[in-house]
Amino acid sequence: MRPASVANKAERGSKAGHLPGGSPVRAGHLPGRSPVRAGHSPGQPQVRAAPSPVPLRVPHGVSPSLPDDGVEEPVRGPSSAARRRAWREGWWSGAEARPSPNFDERPAGEAVTLVVLHSISLPPGEYGGDAVEQLFTNRLDCDAHPYYAQLRGLRVSAHFFVRRDGRVLQFVSCDRRAWHAGRSHWRGRDDCNHYSIGIELEGLEGHAFDDEQYRVLARLLRALALRWPIAEAVGHEDVAPGRKADPGPGFDWPRLRRLLRRRRPSLPRATG
Ligand SMILES: [Zn+2]
Repeated sequence: MRPASVANKAERGSKAGHLPGGSPVRAGHLPGRSPVRAGHSPGQPQVRAAPSPVPLRVPHGVSPSLPDDGVEEPVRGPSSAARRRAWREGWWSGAEARPSPNFDERPAGEAVTLVVLHSISLPPGEYGGDAVEQLFTNRLDCDAHPYYAQLRGLRVSAHFFVRRDGRVLQFVSCDRRAWHAGRSHWRGRDDCNHYSIGIELEGLEGHAFDDEQYRVLARLLRALALRWPIAEAVGHEDVAPGRKADPGPGFDWPRLRRLLRRRRPSLPRATG
């Protein structure tokens, strides 16, 4: 059932605010049911002329046992052994775990083939606080800020949240379905939550993102592509055009593509 009051409030919300694209339901939601999500498209919907998928198959493929030169992280990057330990039951070693109850099971046999990128900040445009983490773990005090009133009762999540300083929080195991994309469609398939990983970038539609966020995002995408058959990354605005506008025009897709293409220079070999 559509939580109409929540949805309507969300859709009337400040144009500055992106509400997460999860599957908000009021208390009483039964895990396992496909929840209906409320819309959260603030402001004027923006429809990009062309979607911006970022293919992840180059140059690293999906093999989990790549040689060293297939890993972007230089110098301080993980050792081969550390990379083998990069994932534990769908949790990334590069993230701080903040388990959220807002998840359910992916459909049986569903392969994870897509990454959906979002942007969010709470209050909109204010960075560094804990409100997003609190929202995704159902601990947000909705009386703490006037904007939060429209978030009351929302049950949403993403797999990852990339802070402005590059710190990564993980809320849901990638083996499970997070509630981030909502009503969505990509390449002939509905409900992207079934087969996608949701990554929220701390930001605001129209704002630029920080260097550290791009660097860490590229690292995370590579790690995901090593573990799951990820074919591409797209924006929420691509899978829900006209309804969602994040991450928005401030996100530099060509930059992400360049980062994903970059190969680490081969380390000099010791000689004779
Ligand atoms: Zn979104």
